[in-house]
Amino acid sequence: MQDQAVSLTMLDAYIAQKHKRLTFPRELEVQYDQRMDSYRRQVMARGLMPTVSVYNAFLVADFLLLPQTAITATILHLAVVTPVIFLAAFLYPRTSNTLLREVFRSFVPFMMVAQIMYIYAQNAGIGADQYQYLAVMTVIYMNINLRFSFNLAIASTLLLMMTYLAVLLPGHSPVEVKFTGTCMMGAAAYLTLMANRRMEQDVRFGFLRRLQDQLRREAAEKVSKHDAMTGLANRRMLDEVVARLWAEGARDHTLAAVVMIDVDHFKPFNDRYGHAAGDECLVRVAGLIADELKSPQDLAFRFGGEEFLLLLPGTDMGDAVRIAERLRVAIENVAIPHEDLVPRGVVTASFGVTAGPVSAHSFAELLSAADAALYAAKGNGRNQVWPPLNKHRDAGADMKDQAAIAARPAR
Ligand code: GH3
Ligand code: MG
Ligand code: MG
Repeated sequence: MQDQAVSLTMLDAYIAQKHKRLTFPRELEVQYDQRMDSYRRQVMARGLMPTVSVYNAFLVADFLLLPQTAITATILHLAVVTPVIFLAAFLYPRTSNTLLREVFRSFVPFMMVAQIMYIYAQNAGIGADQYQYLAVMTVIYMNINLRFSFNLAIASTLLLMMTYLAVLLPGHSPVEVKFTGTCMMGAAAYLTLMANRRMEQDVRFGFLRRLQDQLRREAAEKVSKHDAMTGLANRRMLDEVVARLWAEGARDHTLAAVVMIDVDHFKPFNDRYGHAAGDECLVRVAGLIADELKSPQDLAFRFGGEEFLLLLPGTDMGDAVRIAERLRVAIENVAIPHEDLVPRGVVTASFGVTAGPVSAHSFAELLSAADAALYAAKGNGRNQVWPPLNKHRDAGADMKDQAAIAARPAR
């Protein structure tokens, strides 16, 4: 689920600045880290065998350039560095501390450079002079392949360079080899760090674009499933919720209550106060309905015109009638003037309630029973919940009884 703290407006503004920065505002940075985390795990897992293979293929260089230490090199490769690579790959996804994880990752190239420079120090001559250049490859591998974040790449590159130079400069090689080695290492470090930085910028920008698309899609979906005027969910959303609830509820024998709400004599309200005032009244009623629902699984929909519907999963008849009664009182008490409605002269609404296990009744059956109950409420004088609480007690909570009670005098 998307972090609500990141809004589309904020994202659009940030992208519009077109700064290819390496830091985001905090909320975005948290999300970026989460996405990159799974990406880095994949890189680590997918790169494991290629890394082990390519690294150990360099043993050929040991046998060709420095045969006298080839056995030592083989032992270091197979018994020290390769296990370190496997260990890092094993520990990385199992460690929650970010810093520790990055230490594991940078330990791999460090061990490679340490191995190369150790073998170099054990030898002298032209073979060793050529051999030490392999350390440069490690920096390239690290900054391009391992996809370290730029800051970690800088720190790890400095560590590798210092390790390399600390062995090379006081070592046995002639000055031109030391000079060339220093320059090559410096150039490789600079160029690959620049490449690393550019890649991170591109990845970050791609992340922003994808997030922007996602938020736009979510916003469009929200608009398509909500009523623009009242902000309540619409029938499209109702269809979706019903399909889900009935699919789940059929297994669990979940109860569901349906409450139909219809504003009383709303046509005369429009006629007297005008359509705009009518809209305003519907928005206020919708607000009261939304406020009255306490449980997050209870949902309110604009069913059409001045009709609303509550879908209350896990709620029995008694509780649904009590919720409806509370809402009826709340609407009456807010006292929106409606002079044509005697005796109180305020806007009121009528309620039809039904409930039943979703495994025994289709939504259409519940809806039709709620509609019949609403019809009874209207016929019985409006501004009331049907069945009233005492009638409901007489009849019990079964939908069939409820429908029988609902089939009362017509309006
Ligand atoms: P009853 O008590 O029997 O429900 O009477 P009623 O006048 O409310 O019933 P009726 O269904 O005849 O009228 C509903 C009115 O609601 C008619 C329509 O103009 C009005 N209405 C429906 N949707 C809207 C809306 O979005 N805005 C406004 N202002 N009025 C609406
Ligand atoms: Mg109506
Ligand atoms: Mg009405």
